[in-house]
Amino acid sequence: MRAAGSLFVPLTLLLCVVLFQWEVIQRTLNGSQFYTFSVCNVGEREQDNWLRTTFIQRRPSASRVFVELQFIVRDCNSFDGASLTCKETFNLFTSESDADVGTTFRKGQFKKVATIAPDEITSKNELRINTETKVVENLSRKGFYLAFQDIGACIALLSVRVYYKTCPATVKSLASFPETVAGGENQALREVSGVCVENAISEELPRIYCTVDGEWVVPVGQCQCKPGYEEVEDECQECKAGSFKAEASGDKCTPCPANTQELDSGAVVCPCMDGFYRAPNDPPTGPCSGLPSAPRDLVATTSAGKLLLTWSPPEDTGGRTDITYSIECQRCEGMVCQSCGEKIRYEPAGVGLTDTKVSVSELDAHLNYTFTVEAHSGVTVLTSQAVPPANRPPSTSALTTSLLYTGEYPPKITAMRVMERSSTSLSLFWDVKPRVHPRPIRYELTYRKKDDNLDVTTYTVLILEKNSVQIKDLVPGTAYLFRVQALSSDGSPGGSSMEEQFETSEHLTQNNTAVIFGVAAGGAAMLFIVIVVLFLKRNSHTRQGPEDTYFSKQLKPLKTYVDPHTYEDPNTAVLKFATEIHPSHITKQKVIGAGEFGEVYRGILKVPGRKEVAVAIKTLKPGYTEKQRQDFLSEASIMGQFSHQNIIRLEGVVTKFKHAMIVTEYMENGALDRYLRDHDGEFASFQLVGMLRGIAAGMKYLSDMSYVHRDLAARNILVNNTLECKVSDFGLSRVLEDDPEGTYTTSGGKIPIRWTAPEAIAYRKFTSASDVWSFGIVMWEVMAFGERPYWDMSNHEVMKAINEAFRLPAPMDCPSAVYQLMLQCWLQDRSKRPRFGDIVSLLDKLLRSPDSLKTIADFDPRISIRLPSTSGSDGSPFRSVSEWLESIKMSQYSENFACAGVVTMDQVLQMKNEDIKNIGVRLPGHLKRIAYSILGLKDQTSTLSVFAV
Ligand code: AMP
Repeated sequence: MRAAGSLFVPLTLLLCVVLFQWEVIQRTLNGSQFYTFSVCNVGEREQDNWLRTTFIQRRPSASRVFVELQFIVRDCNSFDGASLTCKETFNLFTSESDADVGTTFRKGQFKKVATIAPDEITSKNELRINTETKVVENLSRKGFYLAFQDIGACIALLSVRVYYKTCPATVKSLASFPETVAGGENQALREVSGVCVENAISEELPRIYCTVDGEWVVPVGQCQCKPGYEEVEDECQECKAGSFKAEASGDKCTPCPANTQELDSGAVVCPCMDGFYRAPNDPPTGPCSGLPSAPRDLVATTSAGKLLLTWSPPEDTGGRTDITYSIECQRCEGMVCQSCGEKIRYEPAGVGLTDTKVSVSELDAHLNYTFTVEAHSGVTVLTSQAVPPANRPPSTSALTTSLLYTGEYPPKITAMRVMERSSTSLSLFWDVKPRVHPRPIRYELTYRKKDDNLDVTTYTVLILEKNSVQIKDLVPGTAYLFRVQALSSDGSPGGSSMEEQFETSEHLTQNNTAVIFGVAAGGAAMLFIVIVVLFLKRNSHTRQGPEDTYFSKQLKPLKTYVDPHTYEDPNTAVLKFATEIHPSHITKQKVIGAGEFGEVYRGILKVPGRKEVAVAIKTLKPGYTEKQRQDFLSEASIMGQFSHQNIIRLEGVVTKFKHAMIVTEYMENGALDRYLRDHDGEFASFQLVGMLRGIAAGMKYLSDMSYVHRDLAARNILVNNTLECKVSDFGLSRVLEDDPEGTYTTSGGKIPIRWTAPEAIAYRKFTSASDVWSFGIVMWEVMAFGERPYWDMSNHEVMKAINEAFRLPAPMDCPSAVYQLMLQCWLQDRSKRPRFGDIVSLLDKLLRSPDSLKTIADFDPRISIRLPSTSGSDGSPFRSVSEWLESIKMSQYSENFACAGVVTMDQVLQMKNEDIKNIGVRLPGHLKRIAYSILGLKDQTSTLSVFAV
């Protein structure tokens, strides 16, 4: 672009102040009158006629000006006889000055700019006007003069226009640039900085170049309209309502995408409409999607003991392609429905399915199942976060089907037991998984003497129509192994069979001695009914009953525990086994713990006529249901049946008043696990074994009563002020629900995995033998001063390790004999584990000869004090002594180390046992823990190993 600068000077202003031979003449051209400066001395020689302008002030940046002349030159030939001297050109001169010099004129100060020659010559008859432009370069002073020199021509100067060029103020690429005077020869391109227009931004300063010709070229740096604005004719304008722009860019605003709200003008984003969402990975500028509709055509088919669920994808995917499915299962027994939890197995999975089918196994026969298949998409998570579950509509994306699972055919045998035993016969009975439509089943029973030489074993095989049999002609006092298997009508065997061991009696005894009934000598009839009811009602929650060969050797207990659930009215059971206390006899003093049902208080029981005793009072929190009240009191019904030095003693119950309470003897030192952790290293092995002996005695009593505890753990043992340990925490279904260690298993129910025997985890085979396994873990907890079994391994890792025959290593400083006993308790084959009677005898023996405790089991410090003893929790070396001490729970000695000047781990590594003692670590247990840890620190290369049996 080109523009004339402000130096435009019309001829009238160029009043010549210096005139040599030039004269001002008034002319008429095309009807209008104007003045010209003329000279016409063509007949005379050596002409030198000057015409000079007034002082022309220069704009400082205009170093280059243009001089446009309009003039007429007469043809020399039109003058007769003047052709020798006549000229047809004239000269343009200039002279710079910082001040107006008035009329002073010195020729020598002028420099020639150009010779001006006409393109067209004016003849006598015809006037021809020429226009010529000349450039005056490199002006630097405040102003200048122009001068015209005639050397003998006949000329008339019509106009002189003087100007310079500028690049005009402009907006280019959303940047505005000021008017800029074009540069001269020495600055052909002038760089100019600009600023972004309103509501536009740029990372770098916008620039452009102005050429000598007054043209803008090469804009640099891009201004872009801010989010919410778009470019319209060199401006940034707000996005119109219903459109948006998320980023600063050269893009135009775009209409709000599908399922979004149209905001007013200037929107940066279009939020989703109600009921529509963007998944975390969706672009914020993309459309919003709705929830998928329910899957369709859900069909359940059964085959080979499994259930296959298939369905079709939802009709409306909400506009998404990332549809997955999850399965919800409810199982209903009668009117009572509950979530199937982890009881059943889904293949390939119960959530995140991309296929429209899943196979379900581990279903129980006879039960109504309701399966809900829910469709999910990337936005489902958002809706569940946004809406609390209670307010969520019962999923619009779910489809439900219900079915009655009729079970496997032929069914599984679930348990086998002895009904009657004599010296020569055994009456056996076995349970079959319930079926809905009983089809004929036959059973194949195989048995042999246990101790037969394996080379010449004789098996006897019987095919039976019923699930019971009496086998006669057996050898007295002999163990037999039995295996039973269900056969379908065509003779094909059922899914599983099991082998059990039973023994005939030593002597001829009366027939009909029902082992599982215990010695129900007197009043047998009543108990018989109770047990039959119990037997028929057997479900996975009840704890009673010798169930397997493990007890076949133990002759009948003197008394058998009665499950309070066998009483139609549980309140009757409480009154039968517990003494009612009047609340006025109880004084609560202080809260000492929190049970599942309410606070536990320490208090005083003062029954008139008896001396005052310290008691623990378990309370039932307000707002309980009748079922909760019964479950709460069931603990008393169980506890009330026991009377043993090592079982927590029930003083009585309050049931006839609003606030039900269970009152037991008070155990000053509380739960054993915490007590040991608080007194880490403070007891000698002898004392610890003494505690274990008490627990074992309590457990022997319980197993003799045919009571299976199921949740034996140090946290459920209470300690009194004479360090006597007593087994506590008796309940029914609540037992494991209540335990924070309880973990749901695939076979149902909650199980404290790290305390529980593998068979109990795998198929809920809870027996006194599984209690023995738990006792082994309690032994380990006690010897390790309340350390958590298997440390921070996950439950899954624990189960895997146990299945692979790994066992906990010996705790630090643990007598070898004690560790050997632990390993016996953890034998895979439960029939080989010691019985509680054996355990009590062995512990007694060890306590009687303290030397037997002197041999210490091999101890690997890297295991017993956990890996952190060799490195920080993240595997890196310890950064400080206090970090290391904390990892081995010996922080209380931080100051001792610091005072002794042991401040770096290098110094720690140099310490000998003597040094540790000298800095003030006196307790033998602590001394050893620190010494062993240092040992472990030195062996940085070792890795964790667990003891394999
Ligand atoms: P429980 O509901 O039996 O697990 O009891 C909760 C907590 O109360 C226990 O962990 C103990 O700390 C405390 N506790 C329960 N019974 C007694 C008791 N007889 N003597 C002292 N403390 C008890």
